[in-house]
Amino acid sequence: MAKSLAGRIALVTGASRGIGKAIALRLAQEGAHVIATARTVGGLEELDDDIQASGESATLVPLDIKDFAGIDRLGTPIAERWGKLDILVGNAGILGSLTPLQHLKPETFDDLMAINVMANYRLIRSLEPLIKASDAGRAIFVTSGAAHKARAYWGGYAVSKAALDMLVRTWAAELETTNATANLLNPGPIATRMRRQAMPGEDQKTLPTPEQLADAMISLCSADATSNGAVHDFKDGVLIQRN
Ligand code: NDP
Repeated sequence: MAKSLAGRIALVTGASRGIGKAIALRLAQEGAHVIATARTVGGLEELDDDIQASGESATLVPLDIKDFAGIDRLGTPIAERWGKLDILVGNAGILGSLTPLQHLKPETFDDLMAINVMANYRLIRSLEPLIKASDAGRAIFVTSGAAHKARAYWGGYAVSKAALDMLVRTWAAELETTNATANLLNPGPIATRMRRQAMPGEDQKTLPTPEQLADAMISLCSADATSNGAVHDFKDGVLIQRN
């Protein structure tokens, strides 16, 4: 049977573990060629092994997403090899520290803004022509419920995700007359390293896995997906669209 994303080219940031790794593998299982980026080479290589085991191939790009010139350099080889980018998953993110704003270190705030916001802006800036060159470019950025909840000690992370939401919604408005769309995915609590950092005492067996989230979100990557500028909340195993 033909795979639903055969022939599609996908770039996933933060693909070395957690949510990004599960999404990258799921995309490959559906037949997409995945360009996987993160800093941890070992994690990318594990992903590559899993992708090869599913009969597909990946391109690994070790990259610190704070290296904005490095993001700019992603476009040229993609343009030369494929001439388009069908799917972009902006997933790489950090939690920073959960602490009162007055205690939040300026370096941590800078990192939150650089990784959770600026890097995604730089991806948009450098990859938009390739996404528009696809017959149905699909960009999905991973946000958080924290973006809309003013909760003590979560300020740095929440500010960065609120900024990401506005960035993506604005871009979606700009894409309105094109074949491309941009949406946000709000995973809710998922069993990953970041979640453990936020909730150290929690039994992660009670949480959905990154693979369950990946199974649900794959529909957003399809050329048939029509939403643009929406948030998709993952809840009880399904995606619920919020405009
Ligand atoms: P993990 O900490 O497990 O994974 C984070 C990923 O981001 C890693 O692959 C990491 O790669 C990458 N990353 C972090 N910093 C950098 C950097 N400087 N350069 C390149 N890559 C980087 O977290 P999750 O999988 O949980 O999180 C993924 C996304 O989901 C994030 O945007 C997060 O905010 C969001 N989210 C998660 C929730 C959850 O409950 N887990 C809930 C709501 C939102 P490496 O370290 O190898 O560079």
